[in-house]
Amino acid sequence: MPEPMSTVFTPVSGEEPPGLYLHIPFCKSRCAYCSFNSYACKSPPGAYLTALVDQIRYWGAQQWCRERIFSTLFVGGGTPTIYGEELAALVNLCLKSFTFAEEPEVTVEANPNTVTVPMLTSLRRAGVNRLSLGVQAFSDRLLGALGRSHTKGEACAAIKAAREAGFANINLDLMYGLPGQRATDWRESLDQALAFGPEHLACYELTIEEETPFAQMVEKGALILPGEEEVLAMAALTHDLLAQAGLPRYEISNYAAPGNQCRHNRNYWRNGSYLGLGAGAVSSLSGFRFSTVEEPELFAALVHKGELPLDEGECLPLAARFRESVVMGLRMTEGVSLARLQRRFGLTPAGYYGKMLEELQQQGLVEVCHDRLRLSEAGLPVANQVLSRLV
Ligand code: SF4
Repeated sequence: MPEPMSTVFTPVSGEEPPGLYLHIPFCKSRCAYCSFNSYACKSPPGAYLTALVDQIRYWGAQQWCRERIFSTLFVGGGTPTIYGEELAALVNLCLKSFTFAEEPEVTVEANPNTVTVPMLTSLRRAGVNRLSLGVQAFSDRLLGALGRSHTKGEACAAIKAAREAGFANINLDLMYGLPGQRATDWRESLDQALAFGPEHLACYELTIEEETPFAQMVEKGALILPGEEEVLAMAALTHDLLAQAGLPRYEISNYAAPGNQCRHNRNYWRNGSYLGLGAGAVSSLSGFRFSTVEEPELFAALVHKGELPLDEGECLPLAARFRESVVMGLRMTEGVSLARLQRRFGLTPAGYYGKMLEELQQQGLVEVCHDRLRLSEAGLPVANQVLSRLV
């Protein structure tokens, strides 16, 4: 394989430890709202796995990676657990091929009908210490409306299996604003989730993405979604209920018990470096951003031919990285550190955005508290509008 552009990947002093991401782009079936890079298949192809193994070995030997200590590994998808027992070997290989900090956070995403106690136990043994389960709803009616391939019973069984296998850090993904969902249904889902005592919850509002079955249904008027007020009520209920349950919000859609915030995602929101391996994965190494080809077959074919499966790459200008750091950082309730921005980019939000930031402050949407710029209580519910002005 050719050497990557090593001159671009020069170490930057004061950089924080990067994260490693592996993408498994296969699912048992496609959900009606899904716009992720994932493909339905009964059994996932072995050729993709061998290509991924190749890429892990290749990148683990590159200078940029050898000079760094990684702090997190995240295996996401798609449905990584569709590979069953083979996944543990993949995690093992990653942990051996890269240098990791002591006690790295190692997350695997899973869908409820793809896990068993023995399989989860082998993941635990391989070093996986965080499981992220795509539950979405505790209602067979709503799961059916979403086109999910699992039932409420399977979701409950998967959470129990994860505890039995020894997982002490579990995230549950849930969605609100679903077709046919009322605030009372959402309350029920949250109550059911909390009854399992998860350490982390990710609560996403359904968004209708282009070229999905849901987008076509909206066009035909065949999808009835809850009204804006009802969705806002669901969002408000989420923060209140989860805060009372000891899972305060730390990011627009993420809630965690103290000490259980997702370190891997925090690195994204802090605009840190990360290496993404697999079809369609994106990497950002010291400000150099590149992606790999999206189609798994092409990805595997290129790797097996001895080529790097790269798609696009760009070296972001300093101002663009600064803006990105502000916008990503404001997603977290703690906001962005002004001193850190100054140190990394030699810029401050007040100096860079000038009047626009003043306006947002006067409207009470953002605030400066000690060293941090953050969204205010009033700004959080309209985060997307505020952030779009700062991009
Ligand atoms: S399980 Fe996730 S990645 Fe797979 S089709 Fe459904 S939403 Fe997409």
